[in-house]
Amino acid sequence: MTSQTSGSVRSIVEDLDCEVEFDAPIGPEMTWYRVGGRADVLVRPRSVEALCILTRRCRDSGTTIRVLGSGANLLVADEGVDGVVVHLDQHAFREVSTIHRHRVHRAGVEGRAGDAVRVMAGKSLEQLVISTATQGLSGIECMAGVPASVGGAIRMNAGGKYGCIGDAVAAVGCINVKGDLVVHEGNDLCFEYRRCSIIDPIILWAELALTPADPEKTHGRVKEIFAEKKASQPMAANSAGCAFRNPLAPDGSGRLISAGELIDRAGLKGYSIGGATISERHANFFIAGDGATASDLIELMDRAASAVADRLGYELVREVVVWRRGAHVG
Ligand SMILES: Cc1cc2nc3c(=O)[nH]c(=O)nc-3n(C[C@H](O)[C@H](O)[C@H](O)COP(=O)(O)OP(=O)(O)OC[C@H]3O[C@@H](n4cnc5c(N)ncnc54)[C@H](O)[C@@H]3O)c2cc1C
Repeated sequence: MTSQTSGSVRSIVEDLDCEVEFDAPIGPEMTWYRVGGRADVLVRPRSVEALCILTRRCRDSGTTIRVLGSGANLLVADEGVDGVVVHLDQHAFREVSTIHRHRVHRAGVEGRAGDAVRVMAGKSLEQLVISTATQGLSGIECMAGVPASVGGAIRMNAGGKYGCIGDAVAAVGCINVKGDLVVHEGNDLCFEYRRCSIIDPIILWAELALTPADPEKTHGRVKEIFAEKKASQPMAANSAGCAFRNPLAPDGSGRLISAGELIDRAGLKGYSIGGATISERHANFFIAGDGATASDLIELMDRAASAVADRLGYELVREVVVWRRGAHVG
């Protein structure tokens, strides 16, 4: 980071109600890979108002703003990342409240009886899954074992074979590029496989429509799904879960083909570059071992994608978000 860059970003943040850290080691300390570079500036706002002003100032000054959630789907390039990285871990961004009404208009979510939970984007999804299940609120048990902040889960429409977070989302509050608060609901909100329609830079909160259920049953279901996931995936290793999206089957059926199976069939299970290895247990998990760098992981992903394209004719698209210096979005 040049002193000019640091000076201009300093002037954007210095009078705001935020914690600010320059040259913050976000790759090794705040991502699940535990590798990669630093953020020129890491900002932890203490209030929504401060975050709105920060977003507006970033737009006005041409400074890129990125949000770091739990870092479970993120790879920070070794050279680090410029602009402002925001982390929503302060109290104001972790609150949860229950709303005794439904503002649910989305197809599929419509018409469910029960409470909506309003949850701020910085809340840990793992904690939310446990606390709602324990209270006997059903709807997000399928998210058991998915490490995420609520904002990161919405951005990625995280999920698995039993459903995804979007299935339960009634409305999402965001901050747009101008720093204004906006709400997306109804036809304005669409979730697809590992993506959502929101283009605003900051997801601030989500309203989840949950259904009253027997707490023992919901909690039991969470434990079951977690155990199933743990049995098939290397959960304890340093990874970002699945590195690639599952591609569509070529027969037009809409069916997804397992990217892990394709990587396995291309002969790359267990293959390593530097300290990065393709997991023997699940070939879509790329593991950062001792001495791994972000470049090792990127090279290994590129190698796997080329092998699958050359040998099997499928184009793999990365699910992991990569942050690079100079790139607007990774
Ligand atoms: C062991 C392991 C298992 C996993 N299993 C699964 C699984 O079963 N299913 C699945 O879908 N995923 C899985 N993942 C991937 C990961 O859990 C999800 O992608 C999750 O949604 C990432 O959330 P996060 O908060 O960590 O986001 P991050 O990794 O921090 O960020 C991901 C993207 O979301 C954006 N983002 C984060 N917060 C916000 C916000 N508030 N506003 C705007 N943008 C935001 C970031 O800028 C970035 O573009 C797994 C990962 C690991 C490490």
